[in-house]
Amino acid sequence: MRPIYLAAILLFGTGIAVAQSSLPELKTLADTPDASTAPTEPKALKSFDVTSIDRSADPCQDFYQFACGNWVKNNPIPGDQTRWGTFNELNERNQWLLYNELETASKPSPKRTPLEAQFGDFFGACMNKPLVDQKGIKPLEPELKAIDALGSKSALASLLVKLTVKDSISAPNFFRLGVEQDQMDSSKQIAGIFQGGLGLPDRDYYLDPSQQQIRDAYVAHMVAMFQLAGDSPEKAAAEAKSTMEIETAFAKAATPRVELRNPKNIYHIMTLAQLKDLAPNFEWKEYFDHVGIGPFETLNVATPDFFKAASQEIQDQPLDAWKSYLRWHAIHGAANYLSSNFVDENFHFYGQELVGQKEITPRWKRCTALTDRLLGEAVGQDWVKQNFPPQDKQSMQKLVAALDKALGEDIQQLPWMSDATKKEAEIKLSLVRNKIGYPEHWKDYSSVKISSNDLLGDVDHAAHFAIQYDLNKLGKPVDESEWGMTPPTVNAYYDPAMNDINFPAGILQPPFFDFSKDPAVNFGGIGVVIGHEMTHGFDDEGSQYDGKGNLREWQTPEDRKAFTERTDCEVKEYGGFESVPGVHLNGKLTLGENTADNGGLRIAYIALMNTLKEQGAKAEDAKIDGFTPQQRFFISFAQIWCSNQTDASLRVSAKTDPHSPGKFRTDGSVQNFDEFGKAFNCKQGTPMYPVNSCRVW
Ligand SMILES: [Zn+2]
Repeated sequence: MRPIYLAAILLFGTGIAVAQSSLPELKTLADTPDASTAPTEPKALKSFDVTSIDRSADPCQDFYQFACGNWVKNNPIPGDQTRWGTFNELNERNQWLLYNELETASKPSPKRTPLEAQFGDFFGACMNKPLVDQKGIKPLEPELKAIDALGSKSALASLLVKLTVKDSISAPNFFRLGVEQDQMDSSKQIAGIFQGGLGLPDRDYYLDPSQQQIRDAYVAHMVAMFQLAGDSPEKAAAEAKSTMEIETAFAKAATPRVELRNPKNIYHIMTLAQLKDLAPNFEWKEYFDHVGIGPFETLNVATPDFFKAASQEIQDQPLDAWKSYLRWHAIHGAANYLSSNFVDENFHFYGQELVGQKEITPRWKRCTALTDRLLGEAVGQDWVKQNFPPQDKQSMQKLVAALDKALGEDIQQLPWMSDATKKEAEIKLSLVRNKIGYPEHWKDYSSVKISSNDLLGDVDHAAHFAIQYDLNKLGKPVDESEWGMTPPTVNAYYDPAMNDINFPAGILQPPFFDFSKDPAVNFGGIGVVIGHEMTHGFDDEGSQYDGKGNLREWQTPEDRKAFTERTDCEVKEYGGFESVPGVHLNGKLTLGENTADNGGLRIAYIALMNTLKEQGAKAEDAKIDGFTPQQRFFISFAQIWCSNQTDASLRVSAKTDPHSPGKFRTDGSVQNFDEFGKAFNCKQGTPMYPVNSCRVW
């Protein structure tokens, strides 16, 4: 698996990853009056919706406006969301179906299976707002007391061990420990440590002068939270100041997000003695001996500069400053699982101020998402039985085979690649494995202690299970059948060390996947998604790995040069797009995703053409709803990306999300693909059919 501390290479960004947590943050766990948020069944989604099309727009000028214009106009962002699009709509529906299962399981009954009792109790504890409110900050008090009792900086390591082992969610660690595949030998699983420790979504927020307003709001938020935890206004202000100083030092030393995309930048194998030389002020041996990981000779210190600086901070900052920092992260980490005053203040900053969300997400949605996140392979078992029939898996396998063949043909036709490199690319492609729907065997959660009246305890136990599950992999063979996403997830991913593509049952639903529709619609929807994931194996990051998942250059120097010239073209193209006036996309941050979008679109189109050919010449001309199959393919692709997003959220995404917003995923891709211009009879030289365009794959 990809290191747990790195963001997976997803199809779609799912919101801000605060402080690069190994577990995605539930960013808005807070409450609203129940009356207005009673669960109602979301509508079933349609593939290829002609009512979304804005027929007053010229597809050759702005294809996204043409395919999605009416959708954008008629689908404002709901108050409890920061962006709203096809992905979110399907996610709402999947979550609602899951909610019904959880709601039933939460009612005590002798008929419940042990598994149902477990996830039912977890969900029930989360939904029990009166009890959670009554407890206030009490569930966190043992951790706060332990932090308060820290007697010296040399005891920091044993304190972090104690908190990690007992309280994984609220453990205020400033770095991440995990087990990962060795990048030079992917059959080995090794220990790795990675930078962390920030409360804002990116290091830029601490360092960029233009972000002063967000820094001020963050400090005000910390002060408010410390006071909720019982500190005086003066003490709270001093604690926030110390925390900000430590986090700013971490931010300065943190490797920037764009550089993290290059696997070579995050591979530094060291012995424990070397780590101790690099970062002498932390008791590493004490930490590793007790945190729950087995013995090892060497580990990957992914971001050495960070650990050097963190060690310096341990020396430079007084003990009280470190206590403030740890206290803050304990409160922050647990905020979503404490009483409403913490939840509301957390939402006020991370939801309203940072990403422009108007209303708090209803409790039933938050608790459903939380149960799915922490016990996903327990609740997912029934979910796939209800929502993913076996014939869907077979249909999907056929599609994957068609895309696989198309990428092979595409590689053969590449104008810039030598025969020697083409051979290597084909070998890599032949080794790509695919996983469809759900795991072959489910994780066994039976050791996770769940109580129907202890939300924070339940969350800690489930999170600790996930951490220990990961640490137990040290030195063991790689489990190729493991999944990095839960079954109802509306997303997909490629894992470069595994060289596999993964499609959860949650995305294999309309509008992505609908076999009542013609092939053009499916190839434009899920077909492009499959192609996108396959192309990740060959983007700026994925192409550095070979078919076995090892970092090895398999392109000739000339081909690598040609590859980089071509990716530079995309860096420039997407860097020219503005998501909010004055805010440009980061062409380097989004390069891998943009390359995957462009390649995915092209190979899905090749696969569709092959399929139509097999069906006979007539199919190519058959119009449905007034559109040719080629046109339907492109409209289906674009409609996957119909979306609205708040300006504040777009600003955060521009700094943190490797995915471009939907409009640019659509227009940026079609303008690089001449078949689009031909399908819509555009004049060459129009914006969507330019004379010069970019092509990598
Ligand atoms: Zn992707």
